[in-house]
Amino acid sequence: MRILVQKFGGTSVASRESRLAAAGHVERALSDGYRVVVVVSAMGRKGDPYATDTLLGTVDEADAVAKRDLDILMSCGETISAVVFASLLRARGHEVAVLTGGQAGIITNNQYGDARILEVRPDRILELLERGAVVVVTGFQGVTLDGDVTTLGRGGSDTTATALGVALGAEYVDIFTDVDGIMTADPRIVEDARRLRRVTYTEICNLAYQGAKVIHPRAVEIAMQKNVPIRVRSTHSQDEGTLVTSATTALESGALRERFVTGVTQAHPFTQLVMDGSGLPYGRIFEETARRGISLDFIYVSPDRIAYTVPGRDASLAVDIVRSHGVEPRVVPDCARVAVVGAGIAGVPGIMAKITGALASEGVEILQSADSHTTIWCLVHLSDMERAVRALHNAFELGQ
Ligand code: ADP
Ligand code: MG
Repeated sequence: MRILVQKFGGTSVASRESRLAAAGHVERALSDGYRVVVVVSAMGRKGDPYATDTLLGTVDEADAVAKRDLDILMSCGETISAVVFASLLRARGHEVAVLTGGQAGIITNNQYGDARILEVRPDRILELLERGAVVVVTGFQGVTLDGDVTTLGRGGSDTTATALGVALGAEYVDIFTDVDGIMTADPRIVEDARRLRRVTYTEICNLAYQGAKVIHPRAVEIAMQKNVPIRVRSTHSQDEGTLVTSATTALESGALRERFVTGVTQAHPFTQLVMDGSGLPYGRIFEETARRGISLDFIYVSPDRIAYTVPGRDASLAVDIVRSHGVEPRVVPDCARVAVVGAGIAGVPGIMAKITGALASEGVEILQSADSHTTIWCLVHLSDMERAVRALHNAFELGQ
């Protein structure tokens, strides 16, 4: 049995026109001889009636909702979407079965809101596929061993798709979205961003962790475990999109191309805290900040200066923690992180010069920088973010 998993994101199921385009992809796969498992996200984006954010907004006493209840609520968006999409397929003459995450055998831990998949029991899906049905599975959700509904966090439908792909031994996992594939930068910011035809799991994980939200990094890591190829494609075209495989697979097919820089990413908002380092009880500050569940970034510790960033929503709590130690931090709100990502940058001289040169020529102030073997990050003012991304994309000649 040749199995294909096709995941359709929020915008791909939001309107009837998009759903028809999505159904077209399912039908082409069927006529190519595949058995098809469809994974759907909730319809639309922020603000749309059944999008996850809207469901959250329906609760008046938001502070009084139990985390467990919140997951039951948040799983509704995908449930609605699955039934709507399944009906369209059925109306077009296909045999269809709808399964919730739990019914599809997705077992998770009980970390509500951000649950991790423990195992996938694919028997029920396999049985339905063997009977010739198209199986439509609600993305973004699973069930604990006790039968409680859980959700998988942002980008969770991508994770559902690759986890099912691995468990079912799918030939491909197709991630259908509103862009032509994985690009060298967010096409909403960089007009001439180039689509990458072929990339490795590692390259895309790096990009995704740095903020390229086109696919969730956890989903990529799952596919990588069993070497299931992913194709990131547009719902509105028949183009093959971006093929994501292991380096070995790419090498064997003669398609391995070592890239110096894969792309440029951005993430926001962050708040930067800067303190005089001398005599500062920073160990205690770090400890307490961690205890309150705030994650730090751009951490800089030296004898005379301590600096770090926190996600914007945690800023006031983070500042209060510092003040409670009798220290007044310098606070820079509304920051963004831009990053140049590429496995080829390690040990190459002149990269930082190129980055600083590009940003300076655009008048972008670098508030702080950091680097790893695959990534160089710069913290900039949010108001400079888009200009910074375009300048870096240009400097590394990533455009078309
Ligand atoms: P879906 O609802 O289909 O999951 P997402 O909004 O999660 O869609 O992801 C698609 C969006 O990711 C695109 O609209 C695009 O703006 C954004 N994006 C950010 N970085 C990139 C990139 N490097 N390549 C492609 N898309 C990107
Ligand atoms: Mg997504």
